[in-house]
Amino acid sequence: PLFRHAEFVTSIAKPAGLPVAKGPEIAFVGRSNAGKSSAINALVGHTRLAYVSKTPGRTQLLNLFRTPAGLYLVDLPGFGFAKVPEAVRRGWADLIERYLHEREALVGLIHIMDVRHPLTALDRQLLDWFLPSGKPVHVLLTKADKLSHGARTATLAQVRRALAPWSGQVTVQLFSALRKQGVEEVETVVGGWLTG
Ligand code: GDP
Repeated sequence: PLFRHAEFVTSIAKPAGLPVAKGPEIAFVGRSNAGKSSAINALVGHTRLAYVSKTPGRTQLLNLFRTPAGLYLVDLPGFGFAKVPEAVRRGWADLIERYLHEREALVGLIHIMDVRHPLTALDRQLLDWFLPSGKPVHVLLTKADKLSHGARTATLAQVRRALAPWSGQVTVQLFSALRKQGVEEVETVVGGWLTG
């Protein structure tokens, strides 16, 4: 299991604070509350690891985890959180953008969306802006347990259709952190990125 037993390495507040990369990195992004922390926890098999990112003062930070196999997981600050001052929002955007654009060790992006609100304007902006990098994006439609089988299957098809122009670069799956559903599919996709 690719992500198992990841351990917290460090938190970074400014792009300049990023350590020199020591291995391939997989980054996680998503709107605040989309379910990013829960998804990371489900993938690594800890109950609380990524909640480190949710403790007060850490929500604006980039948090770095390392797996025993030397894969780095990068938890980027959630975007689109309304109740923050503009200056703080700019700081987040700067950290996220600088990381996503400049980090050579970044292999691919896991983009977390709530299956009930996929592809919001901010999600589309992030994709529009990241896709020219040519790096792969895997979309997790999480909280899939909150919809009926029919409704979530329909949403999956709809999101795949919307992203079809980038089908060589973007993949989409259903996920549930609550039910631990979809973990193997993520491992297969990311494993494919790593072996090229
Ligand atoms: P983040 O802000 O993106 O890190 O979101 P969290 O992981 O903290 O999740 C936001 C809320 O959604 C929390 O109340 C979680 O318990 C809930 N949640 C996250 N993932 C799931 C899931 O797969 N199923 C269900 N039912 N709830 C979830």
